[in-house]
Amino acid sequence: MKEEKIELIKDGKRLDGRDFEDLRPIKIEVGVLKRADGSCYFELGNNKALAAVYGPREKHPRHLQDAKTAVVTYRYNMAPFSVDDRKRPGPDRRSVEVSKVSRESLDPVILKEYYPKTAIDVYVELLQSDAGTRTAGINAASVALAAAGIPMRDLVSSVAVGKIDGEVVLDLNAVEDNHGEADMPVAMVARTDTITMLQMDGRFTKDEFERGLKLAKKACHEIYELQRTALIEKYSKSVGEGEE
Ligand code: UDP
Repeated sequence: MKEEKIELIKDGKRLDGRDFEDLRPIKIEVGVLKRADGSCYFELGNNKALAAVYGPREKHPRHLQDAKTAVVTYRYNMAPFSVDDRKRPGPDRRSVEVSKVSRESLDPVILKEYYPKTAIDVYVELLQSDAGTRTAGINAASVALAAAGIPMRDLVSSVAVGKIDGEVVLDLNAVEDNHGEADMPVAMVARTDTITMLQMDGRFTKDEFERGLKLAKKACHEIYELQRTALIEKYSKSVGEGEE
């Protein structure tokens, strides 16, 4: 439930000092978990997301296998200590929904038909949450899938846009999400502008929706470049330094 309204824009700036079209600072680290086939740490402002990918590996139990393609699973989990009011551990309606839409946002780019009867399991853990966690998780998972060597058509990039104090803004933080008027997380293949997830909480006019989507596309292009650079840096370094 939304809390009471507070002023979110003062002197043309947001409470954290950002302009309307600013992303929060992003940090990406690839290959942070030794046991995972691919992993990525993704920071978006105060959000800290960790993604681990396992597979392709034989799917168990066998009756869940698909004879034609790999089966992709995605588990989004917010740590109890990741938010101010401790979150009850374990899955809940929200995490089931976030896991489903996040899996569907990545599914179209994974070349699942290369690995029939296998499982590709994606785990996303939120160590710190400040709104936009599903988008941070998708960005992390996309890089982790690539790091696992899973054949993909392209990377998926994700960001939210929203409305606060009547203004369309990029990448809401938790205060803005709680007290704002609308929140619209988007995921897309940035290079082709193909949208793979679009959700909406609250209301936009048609014009606001169009402006918001344009803003999200521009930001996804920026995120895509950061994801790509992080992968290139990791793997060009690995070859040079004789890592595994
Ligand atoms: N949140 C929380 N406790 C919860 C669920 C959410 O404190 O049980 C906070 C958390 O900061 C989260 C934000 O509310 O990032 C927004 O949640 P939302 O469901 O909109 O998803 P998100 O924006 O994180 O993808």
